[in-house]
Amino acid sequence: MQESKKIAVVGSGLVGTLLAVYLRKRGHEVDVFDRRSDIRNVEFSGRSINLAMSTRGWHALEKVGLKDDVMKIALPMDKRAIHLKGEEELQFQPYGKQGEAIYSISRGNLNRKMIDLAEKEGTHFYFDTKVWDVDLPNATLYIGVGENEERKALKYDIIFGADGAFSRVRHKMQRRSRFNYSQEFLELGYKELTIPANADGTHKLENKSLHIWPRGEFMLIALPNTDGSFTCTLFMPFEGENSFEQLSTKEGVHDFFEDNFPSVLDDIPNLVNDFFKNPTSALLTIKCFPWTYWDKAALIGDAAHAIVPFYGQGMNVGFEDITVLDELMDQYENDWSAIFKAYENSRKPNTDAIAELSFRNAQEMSSKTADAKFLLRKQIEKWFSAKHPDKWLPLYSRVTFSRRPYKEALEIGDAQREIMDKVMLLPNIEHDWKSEKVEHFILEKLNVLAQILE
Ligand SMILES: Cc1cc2nc3c(=O)[nH]c(=O)nc-3n(C[C@H](O)[C@H](O)[C@H](O)COP(=O)(O)OP(=O)(O)OC[C@H]3O[C@@H](n4cnc5c(N)ncnc54)[C@H](O)[C@@H]3O)c2cc1C
Repeated sequence: MQESKKIAVVGSGLVGTLLAVYLRKRGHEVDVFDRRSDIRNVEFSGRSINLAMSTRGWHALEKVGLKDDVMKIALPMDKRAIHLKGEEELQFQPYGKQGEAIYSISRGNLNRKMIDLAEKEGTHFYFDTKVWDVDLPNATLYIGVGENEERKALKYDIIFGADGAFSRVRHKMQRRSRFNYSQEFLELGYKELTIPANADGTHKLENKSLHIWPRGEFMLIALPNTDGSFTCTLFMPFEGENSFEQLSTKEGVHDFFEDNFPSVLDDIPNLVNDFFKNPTSALLTIKCFPWTYWDKAALIGDAAHAIVPFYGQGMNVGFEDITVLDELMDQYENDWSAIFKAYENSRKPNTDAIAELSFRNAQEMSSKTADAKFLLRKQIEKWFSAKHPDKWLPLYSRVTFSRRPYKEALEIGDAQREIMDKVMLLPNIEHDWKSEKVEHFILEKLNVLAQILE
């Protein structure tokens, strides 16, 4: 049983609020600060930006009894629905085994629910309250409303920086000697658009899939919402031939969609208005280390590791930070220095691995999903995995439907890729893939690999 501490969490996003629930369950006094207004009182903009929840996220919610509540606002997506250029018929690519799915959830609805649930546990929230500065050795926050207002000092035992990719708490840590930090922007940006519901509230597209229009350098995706709408995201380079820079006129946007995504043109009635009204946002990877300061402060979620969204894992990995931290609280009880050291050392290799996997998955989504050879590879993997589930778990499943470490997923995924490269070179593989010959070939390569690893 831990001794009760006075803890501040900076950031009432998805990670900060779930962390508050976990800390309250252990009897700590918890104050959460956010520079934004209370999202529960902000009028719904009509846009429903969503994200995908998978096994790691659900596990973190389940551990504190929140899974059922959140499941009520989620929609399962058990496959990708691929819209190939010039083809009317959709290609469906299941994500995992029968019954496995990722879940589409509105970010706003989830955040509102999480704040409600954290408040019910006894967390105190302070909205419209920006943290301007942090005194790390003394675990003191300096808060205020405006830039020129007087700052108020608030002393805590421990501070968590759950304040997102541009974290103020991390910024303070960055001024220490031997603090490593890197940030890398992608050349791709993104813009969100909406496919509204039909008049009767039903979805305009098949609603148990994550829809992808893969077009090589750019792609459109769409995730279903519970209100019958879909949130679409257009990922595209900022500059170059097919880029945001090129789409500067209403006609240009309309023609671009007519050329590349004709099947959805009629489904996005506000396309042109929304295109110019909604921001074009950047995507980046942030890495840093250490994540903690003595027994006084720790970074968590995007503040410690922002990743690009192509594996749908950013929030999931942040939630997993919390479950790991919670296990370490059981192990080290009141020794917060030991908790923090073990936390950053166990998480860092895994968050670096999911950063790499997420970066690589951009290409899989935008190009490979439209490639017949890639689809055959996936089919062979699925077939072999069904025959030998103890020997082969496909990479996507290991990341999304398991809680095995991300680092392991990256390493095993690389080894599996090498084997599959060789399988794809076997003569007549297009016709022979479901054969004993191929099965034995893979088994033999796995044996060789096992011997190397021994
Ligand atoms: C396009 C896109 C799609 C994504 N899709 C997925 C997905 O499908 N699945 C998935 O798991 N993840 C996804 N993610 C990632 C996910 O959104 C993030 O990983 C997650 O929201 C991080 O949560 P967080 O609580 O750490 O940070 P944030 O959500 O950024 O919250 C930080 C909070 O801190 C507050 N704050 C910041 N500075 C201060 C300050 N100085 N004082 C007070 N408050 C402050 C902010 O106002 C904010 O409320 C996606 C991300 C993007 C960009």
